[in-house]
Amino acid sequence: MTRSWRIVAGVALLALLSGCAGAGRPPAGPAPIAAPRPVGIQDPAVIPTPSGGPAAANCDPFASLRPPATLPDPGQMPAGTAMARIAARGRLVVGVDQDTYLFGYRNPATGQIEGFDIDVAREVARAIFGDPDRIQLIAITSAQRIPVVNDGTVDLVAHTMTINCARLQQVNFSTVYYEAGQRVLVNRTSTVQGIGDLGGKKVCAAAGSTSIQNIASAAAKPIPVSVPDWNDCLVLLQQGQVEAVSTDDTILLGMAQQDPNTQLVGPRFTSEPYGLAIAKSSPELVRFVNGVLDRMRSDGRLAGIGRHWLGAGAPAPPPSKYQD
Ligand code: GLU
Repeated sequence: MTRSWRIVAGVALLALLSGCAGAGRPPAGPAPIAAPRPVGIQDPAVIPTPSGGPAAANCDPFASLRPPATLPDPGQMPAGTAMARIAARGRLVVGVDQDTYLFGYRNPATGQIEGFDIDVAREVARAIFGDPDRIQLIAITSAQRIPVVNDGTVDLVAHTMTINCARLQQVNFSTVYYEAGQRVLVNRTSTVQGIGDLGGKKVCAAAGSTSIQNIASAAAKPIPVSVPDWNDCLVLLQQGQVEAVSTDDTILLGMAQQDPNTQLVGPRFTSEPYGLAIAKSSPELVRFVNGVLDRMRSDGRLAGIGRHWLGAGAPAPPPSKYQD
């Protein structure tokens, strides 16, 4: 190559490297777009101290109120009870999740909210009305569960809700209808093998859940990131904005089924017994619901709901336990 050709080639290369921009103008190009963030995200999460004051010393989260020896028949609710008020209204009002696949999610094919929790709540409606369809589902976040029970928006909450002593200060719970445990979900390409590998890494859970508290108190010191709904966590994981999601294995199983690029890792590191939350002002409704759950344990319906949503390997329903 002659000297003059070498200069021409050099100028052409420079023009290429500068993106063909005109001399003197800054290189053109779009400003980088920040990854979308769900409304209400807290990164890092602000962890509230569990409200309701110190747990009662004699608190046993597994022990609920004993049901009556015989349940009233549908349409025969005793006067003056919460069940009679529900019957007079014509429908049971239940606070549920609408984006937790398998437990409470909106089926896009039907537009209906379906899942394990929904089927349990429908049995309460069946016991009051003789018709499981006499039910109104109100979609709520994890953080709204205790407020909607206590302000009377709903008769009960069926929302993968862990019974614990702090919550028992504020609401009543049925007996345990399923026992979950907290685990970790990561992308299949991740080398993380459990909560112990997540020190200094962002880990997502819903605000108002036991999960976000458990992440914040994990010995490895992950960085908790909270969002309003569980699906927001799955999207943040898919986008690479968090390293992991950590919550009940039940909820994580639904996420893994929705996105086969994700997987559950590590053992359970907490126990999360699920109960239906009911206002403390309606102990008779707790006893009635416990009677319904006992009947579902003995006639196999509760086990059947578990198998339907979680497959043949679903664990047997835990036995009921009462305070007296
Ligand atoms: N079981 C946990 C809880 O009650 C997580 C589930 C949820 O937030 O829906 O806080």
